[in-house]
Amino acid sequence: MFKPNLRLLWALPVLSITLGLALFPGVLPSSAETPGAAAIPTPTRMPPVYNFDRNLYSLDDSASPWVVVNKRTPLYPLRYKPKSLVKPAMPGAGNPYGLKLAKVAGTALVKMAKAMKAAGAGTLVLQSGYRSYVSQVSVHNAQVKRYGLAKGEALAARPGFSEHQTGLAADLAAVGQHCTIQICFAKTKAGKWLASNAYKYGFILRYPAGQTPITGYQFEPWHFRFVGQELSKEMKIESIGVLELFWRLPYAPTYAG
Ligand SMILES: [Zn+2]
Repeated sequence: MFKPNLRLLWALPVLSITLGLALFPGVLPSSAETPGAAAIPTPTRMPPVYNFDRNLYSLDDSASPWVVVNKRTPLYPLRYKPKSLVKPAMPGAGNPYGLKLAKVAGTALVKMAKAMKAAGAGTLVLQSGYRSYVSQVSVHNAQVKRYGLAKGEALAARPGFSEHQTGLAADLAAVGQHCTIQICFAKTKAGKWLASNAYKYGFILRYPAGQTPITGYQFEPWHFRFVGQELSKEMKIESIGVLELFWRLPYAPTYAG
């Protein structure tokens, strides 16, 4: 169900050829000057430079890469389980706990981990991936028992309300960078690289700093959500970092009841 936006992909070479011809006329020989050379096909109609389709995927379907889950919008059904869970084969010791993600997210995460390593930003570690409804019940209960309802729920989502249950969210860390699931991750090499580059692989930093009244979560520089490249790139272009703002959805600071 998840397919790349082909229109966007073929628009790029057409654009660069057009630009090249406009800036450097005569650089590319015409077929008349070079007998036997293949003629450059002239598109009868220029493709759009960028054509973001806001209706490409559903925002409500739990299996959609664009599903919005927050404290006002639980998963449907509440015990939803993704069909295509995989254990991402992360480079190095990147998946030490054998965690799973939805297939689209897992494939993209492996690509991102390889790029991060190649960029010298470290070995990516998957700290938390898919969490079932049942496992979220115990995480939620444990935190509430330990810290009380308000503080406990600031740390652990209610079952059925966690992005981790979609299989599209990943808590990330890096080998030897000494800051795991803490705000200081934002200052590590890996945290900085991810914040700048995750969008290229279809991920967004889901809970940015200073957005708690909208997202309902504190700054979580480790929590990345797969939304696919169409959306992550469009959010980058429009400089909108929060899903609720991008889709003009109600803010979700607290649970409804
Ligand atoms: Zn998380």
